[in-house]
Amino acid sequence: MAPALLTALGLLAGCDSKTATTGEARTPSTTEAVTPADPEKAATSGEAATATEEARATPAPDPSTIPAAKAGDAAAIYARPQVPILCYHQIRDWTGRDSKGAKDYIVPIAKFKEQMKMLADSGYHTIQPDQLYAYLTTGAKLPPKPVMLTFDDTDLDQFTIARPTLAQYGYKGVYFVMTVSLGRPHYMTKAMVKQLADEGNQIGSHTWDHHNVKKYQGKDWETQIDKPTKTLEEITGKKIKYFAYPFGLWNPQAFPELKQRGFVAAFSLAEKRDQQDPLFTIRRIIASGYWSPKTLSNSIRQSF
Ligand SMILES: [Zn+2]
Repeated sequence: MAPALLTALGLLAGCDSKTATTGEARTPSTTEAVTPADPEKAATSGEAATATEEARATPAPDPSTIPAAKAGDAAAIYARPQVPILCYHQIRDWTGRDSKGAKDYIVPIAKFKEQMKMLADSGYHTIQPDQLYAYLTTGAKLPPKPVMLTFDDTDLDQFTIARPTLAQYGYKGVYFVMTVSLGRPHYMTKAMVKQLADEGNQIGSHTWDHHNVKKYQGKDWETQIDKPTKTLEEITGKKIKYFAYPFGLWNPQAFPELKQRGFVAAFSLAEKRDQQDPLFTIRRIIASGYWSPKTLSNSIRQSF
């Protein structure tokens, strides 16, 4: 169990620090940044503004009910403007032990609340993965100014701090759970994950103990994917359809493995999407603990 424990301990200091040091999450130039002057982007904003309350009220169809013939091909999916997706890890005040790099992954409580207030004041509406899937595959309407809030690694403060803060604004989140940590100190319990699912949030898989998908072989798929999926389905009573790559790292060999296990989309971090399989490389940016509401607002516009 030592490697798992080490991994879990490492997570307390920010599991995705490998990505942080490269600055990917904060460097729009390495991403598919769209300039505000882009006519395609301008057209989309206009379209979003005409979306009605209806788009918000109508539940998104389950991906399995969307016939393949109705779903667009990879090129059509890739061409659709991306929806901003934010990735959070820990939400707690910094301590003297937190490294400079870790602070990208630790958003102080007041800062998190300011970030959520900015989104609400700016008119953003949170969407769930099924809505995103329907939009990407069929062009289904989204509410005005859509955003997705995702939380990785099962940290306890996602339940104690993020959950009530989101509820204040009628927001829902997506929680990518790493099952090895369930019930451990500083992490959520199974009952909390169930409650999040019952309250209309999406629960997704983030592997068993956060190993890099690019290195899986043999039984790793069973350990890191099959068993955790089953665990999460038993906890929530719902099908687990969405996956987030540990460290945001992926390779095309992972796509068929995930698909045959019932996943319909997977989320990475700020790197470019795969043009052949954009649904399995949906981009997110890490909302840094250093970011003021204004910086977050600018990052959302520049990165998606
Ligand atoms: Zn993670």
